[in-house]
Amino acid sequence: MSDCLFCKIAAGEIPSKKVYEDEQCFAFYDIDPQAPTHFLVIPKAHIGSCGEITPENSAVVAHIFAVISQVTRELGITDFRVVSNCGEQAGQSVHHLHFHVLAGRDMTWPPG
Ligand code: 5GP
Ligand code: ZN
Repeated sequence: MSDCLFCKIAAGEIPSKKVYEDEQCFAFYDIDPQAPTHFLVIPKAHIGSCGEITPENSAVVAHIFAVISQVTRELGITDFRVVSNCGEQAGQSVHHLHFHVLAGRDMTWPPG
């Protein structure tokens, strides 16, 4: 999607601090971290949000969770939270599917 911020980050057109990359997904540190470790994992192909996941495009979501497991292990992180905000009321501000990975502090439950 030509005017999508995260499509541009995944394509390297906008710089980011990369954590991980393969042919299907891209992971990078959040510009406004909400925890000592806070990175985002996105599919390279544009999906607007969790609400746009279908049987046809959902394989990348399983892949992303395998990547999250691998990357956290490599970073030595055992305790972490994975969050995906879907829609404005839930706090989504960038309309390209992304999974926040947060670690390094106590997390509240339920989330605010
Ligand atoms: P959302 O609010 O949609 O769940 O999460 C979007 C996240 O993207 C926010 O945590 C925000 O800090 C992060 N973000 C927005 N713009 C940029 C950017 O240009 N670079 C990086 N690395 N993160 C960004
Ligand atoms: Zn996009």
